[in-house]
Amino acid sequence: MHIVEIDNNKVPIALTKTYAEEPYILGCQGIVNVNLSIGSKAKLEDVTKYCSNELLNVYNAMTKRIINRSVEKYDKICATYFMRYEKELKVESKEIIHAPFVLEHLGWANNNYNIVLNEYMQYMQKETIKYTIYHELCHLHTLKYNNSFGHNPDFYDVLYQKYSPMEIKKIMEN
Ligand SMILES: [Zn+2]
Repeated sequence: MHIVEIDNNKVPIALTKTYAEEPYILGCQGIVNVNLSIGSKAKLEDVTKYCSNELLNVYNAMTKRIINRSVEKYDKICATYFMRYEKELKVESKEIIHAPFVLEHLGWANNNYNIVLNEYMQYMQKETIKYTIYHELCHLHTLKYNNSFGHNPDFYDVLYQKYSPMEIKKIMEN
């Protein structure tokens, strides 16, 4: 995570790269995500120099702000809620992988019972971390008990037992 000062604002910037053809900027949970295409030679300094207005606009459009949390503290939160929700949902994740990626996704699960969490969640509200863990474990739950995978009615049945759509909307708001 980079903290860049723009007009007296300390703007947290996550720089990611994907196969997207055009670079883009998005705001997520108080973080400004600059996504460049994999072949791009642009540096963060270039982006902050030429797009400072856009970066600031994206930042100011968000109401959430980042939390300064150590990686140890973040790991502890993850461990606590994985343990709690795995028990609640009667599932077990095989492997939990932490990796930084574009902030369009905070996590995902696959049908090998692995879960990948976006490393940038270290700086997000605890509610967001808890919800993401629960969401991904719901995928493992439907895989195990319904033999289905994805955002389907089985999945929402389990998810809505804990979180109402309104609560989810509030948590996922930026
Ligand atoms: Zn999902």
